[in-house]
Amino acid sequence: MTAPQPTFRDSVDLMYNRAVALMDLEPGLEEKIRVCNATYTVRFGVRLRGRIMTFTGYRSVHSEHLEPVKGGVRFASTVDQDEVEALAALMTYKCALVEVPFGGSKGGLCIDPRQYDEHELEQITRRFAYELIRRDLISPALNVPAPDMGTSEREMAWIADQYARMHPTDINARACVTGKPQTFGGIQGRVEATGRGVQYALREFFRHAEDAQRAGLSGDLEGKTVVVQGLGNVGYHAAKFLSQEDGARIIGIVEHDGALFDPEGLNVEAVHDWLTKHGGVTGYHEANTVAEGAKVLEEACDILIPAATEGVITVDNAERINARLIIEAANGPVTAGADDILRRRGVLVIPDLFANAGGVSVSYFEWVKNLSHIRFGRMERRQEEARHRLVVKELERLDRAMGAAWSLQPDFRDRYLRGADELELVRSGLDDTMRAAYQTMRELWQGREEVTDLRTAAYMVAIARIARTYTAKGI
Ligand code: GLU
Repeated sequence: MTAPQPTFRDSVDLMYNRAVALMDLEPGLEEKIRVCNATYTVRFGVRLRGRIMTFTGYRSVHSEHLEPVKGGVRFASTVDQDEVEALAALMTYKCALVEVPFGGSKGGLCIDPRQYDEHELEQITRRFAYELIRRDLISPALNVPAPDMGTSEREMAWIADQYARMHPTDINARACVTGKPQTFGGIQGRVEATGRGVQYALREFFRHAEDAQRAGLSGDLEGKTVVVQGLGNVGYHAAKFLSQEDGARIIGIVEHDGALFDPEGLNVEAVHDWLTKHGGVTGYHEANTVAEGAKVLEEACDILIPAATEGVITVDNAERINARLIIEAANGPVTAGADDILRRRGVLVIPDLFANAGGVSVSYFEWVKNLSHIRFGRMERRQEEARHRLVVKELERLDRAMGAAWSLQPDFRDRYLRGADELELVRSGLDDTMRAAYQTMRELWQGREEVTDLRTAAYMVAIARIARTYTAKGI
């Protein structure tokens, strides 16, 4: 029998504690930052298929050192309070690491969305949103959700519309949620942002030859062998960009019903099409269908991308992981215990805080766009440019007030004024964000002997920033 493993929340706290042990925080501040401020649980009924069905949902606010607080809403039958709190904590640290001026939050609804049709899902989502909106747990100024596992643009549009109905005079209503469809206040490049962020993170990693060497790797992404676990929104886009744009070879794809393996490389688009049509990889013809996903997770490869869910690499399989580098595209895929084992074995981990921060970074652009009430993109006329200058001034003021400095970054401002189109702005803004965050993290990792891994470095950067905000504004 295996020993009981720590919960997801415990695992995040253990990683946090590892970093704090190397820092010199004011007494008591360590606890204040670590604990989850509040978790709201709601149970509500919806009349479906001629009977009343009761659902349980959560919205957890981990840290309000900056507001609004930010984080996705997950629809999955595994959702519980522990999971939502762990994910909210990760949002706090993630936002601090990539300098988006938000606190951390997360929501979840305990539901298997595949069991309901679209109309039913709309009713359930609106009812859940109603409960959160009326308690200010969805609000452009206080708490801004986004998509996560089991949700997408579609659910965000329902939430935004529900908020607008309940606050018809709020001119900033659209900023109450990000990840919306483009026709409803969304921003270009948000759907693929997390996968894009994974690609930018890896490119930046390989730009530093000595970092790659620590994982026993050299060169760039060209020809690198990759195993992806989970071909959902994040895994699909990461695998697609890495194979199509960087020449990486996707040799394994692990899904809920089994896995595909082909040392020559799999066709990501074809597998994704099959998956969308059939709901799994079973029966896919162009490769060996391996019954057991666990085996492919343990295949020898250069880069392993867990992009599905938490707790997939644990003390039970960490010894058998055969990758040189793991990049955590999902939140929390490596448990604290597994992390210790991987460190000892010299398997390098690019941590979730950084690796999957592309989503929330682009969410920030969407939120700013919604608040500015001006479309990002081409601005041919001088008059429009002048108006944009005013907006940028206002953003600078906001940034200063909030102690973060995204729109102050000269590159972003120049491109904004020059009239780069929206997608270019989003991509280059995301690239800047990922590169800057990586460099701060690696400075600690390469520069301080006691910091032996990127995760601890990431936590240290994030915690130091949150501590500074508290010191500046008081508890
Ligand atoms: N759910 C995503 C995450 O875990 C995105 C959050 C957001 O954009 O607010 O980071």
